[in-house]
Order: sequence, then C-alpha cells, then structure tokens
Amino acid sequence: MQFGLALAGSGQQLHAPAGFGAPSYGPALVRRRLKASIGCRGIGLHSGRRISLTLHPGELGSGIVFHRSDLGLDIPARHDLVVETRLCTQIGLPGHPEARVGTIEHVMAALAAAGIDDARVELDGPEVPILDGSAAPFLFLIDCAGTVEQFGARRAIEVLRSVRVEDKHGAWAELSPNVEPAFDVDLTIDFGETAIGRQSLALRISVESFRQELADARTFTLAEDVARLRAAGLAQGGSLDNAVVVDGPMILNPGGLRRPDEFVRHKLLDVVGDLALAGAPITGRFRGHRSGHALNNQLLLALFSDRRNWRPTGGHGAVETQTGKRVAA
Ligand SMILES: [Zn+2]
Repeated sequence: MQFGLALAGSGQQLHAPAGFGAPSYGPALVRRRLKASIGCRGIGLHSGRRISLTLHPGELGSGIVFHRSDLGLDIPARHDLVVETRLCTQIGLPGHPEARVGTIEHVMAALAAAGIDDARVELDGPEVPILDGSAAPFLFLIDCAGTVEQFGARRAIEVLRSVRVEDKHGAWAELSPNVEPAFDVDLTIDFGETAIGRQSLALRISVESFRQELADARTFTLAEDVARLRAAGLAQGGSLDNAVVVDGPMILNPGGLRRPDEFVRHKLLDVVGDLALAGAPITGRFRGHRSGHALNNQLLLALFSDRRNWRPTGGHGAVETQTGKRVAA
C-alpha cells in the first residue's frame, strides 16, 4: 500500500449516517463536503514523480477545484478545461501550459460517487497519484475524513435530448433521458483475442453500487503498449502494483484479477469520473461501446453545446453552466 493517512481537524467518522441526509449521487436537497482534510502520497503514473495529495473541504458552491500548491494555481474540474485525453484525463488553464493536472478521473469518480459537491484537491505536482490504480484508496480517504451537508441547494443536470459521439474506429458514447431521476450506465468493451475479450456491464450509479461494483477495479494496459508508452515519456510510474498488465491471453500480475470483468468495471469507473466534469450529478442514461476518456469528454461538450439538451434540476436560483453563463433554474 503506497499511502498513509494524515487526518487534519478533530471530527472524523468512518461512515456517514444512513437515511435522510446520507450521501447520494444525484438530486439532493443540500450540498455535501468533506468533514476534514485528509491526504496521501503516491507515484504519478505518467510522470513517475512522488506527489502529495490532500483533499480539503470545499467552499460552498465552489465545485471540485484542483490546486497546484507548487504553482499557486487553481484549476476547476470542468469539462471545458480538459486539455488531454490520451491514456488519462488532464485539465489545464488556458494560457498556462504548465498549469495542468493529469489522471484526475479516479479521484473525481470517488468524490462524485460519495456525493461530494465542493472540494479542494491540493497537489504538489502535475498529476494525481495513481495509488493502486483504482478509486478504492480515494474512497477510503473520503470515508476516513467523513462528509457533512452544507446549506446550499444541490442541483443535478437532467438530460432532455439524446446526444451521441463516435470516433472513426466505430467506438461511440451516448447520453439520453432517463425515465427515473437516476444515472444509469451501460458499457461494452472489446479487446478481441486477449485476456480482456468482450465485456459488458450495466449499473445504476449510487454510493453503494460504486463502492461495491466499481471502486476497486484497477486501470489496465497491454504489455505491447508498455515499452511504447515508456519511450514516449509516459507510464514512467507504472508497475504491476498500480495497473493490470495484459499480455495476449495472460494477466502478468502475480495476484491475477480482482474480478473476472475488472476491465469493464474500471472503464465504467472512468465514465463516472469523466462525466463528473459536468460539474453536477447527471440524471440520464449513458451507453457506450469501446469508449474512453476522449469520447467521454466529447459527450459532455456535445451535451452542453445546445441548451435544449439539458436542464438544471433539484435546486432554485441560478446554476453555473459549463460555458460560464448563469441561467435561471
Ligand atoms: Zn482509469
């Protein structure tokens, strides 16, 4: 295990209270933040650098904001600030080439699934530590810090019209309206004649389903890609401790897989993290076929490109759209 606890603040709890006011993904009466700051240290998957991460309670209405303490810069977790989607999702500030944060998707997924609306994610380097390659360590940190309600209305983004994006290789992703106020996801991946093969999974996202079905699924790579990535200066911190490596029909990790379909579970974890860059929980249905970070981001860009595609629900007053305009809710 590559992380150690650094609890700050007095109050902590291992589990939030159940029932009314319990954390939820989706519409809720009030916003939620961490109860205390908590941190860890770990390796950056691509940079290979040791990086400290601290999750802080966020200011009411701030959303999720990454803070590069080494640069003194804030980078809001917004889909329109995504600057790179090869291998991971990276956000950055326009006009500041160095102001970037990479591999944000797993911590974003854990924050979203835990129902956290406002948080400051402090880092002293260019990417979120990869830890064990899954979202479970981030969920563990959030559990240790505990969460608390804030007196501000939470809003969700309701999908009103279907939007679909695809690439030239036949991969596609789509968001469509849902008859129930929930976020349902359904994904198929196909890696041909490898140990991954073809896998599908459909799930309704909740704190519980994320914890039980997706959180511990690790990122993965093909052995044939490892040398190529390293030569390109990527995956410098990658190892069998933080990624599943597949070589044709074989899994190279001595411990094997955590679940037979760990791969599609991880891809759904990525969907939850990438779509959290909408800035609020989504009410709708996601369907994808061999989609990844690039299509996940294009899907949000397509959704927000037309105001008739969505509406804010669950609150009152105004909601900040991803184009920076405030609209009546
Ligand atoms: Zn991932």
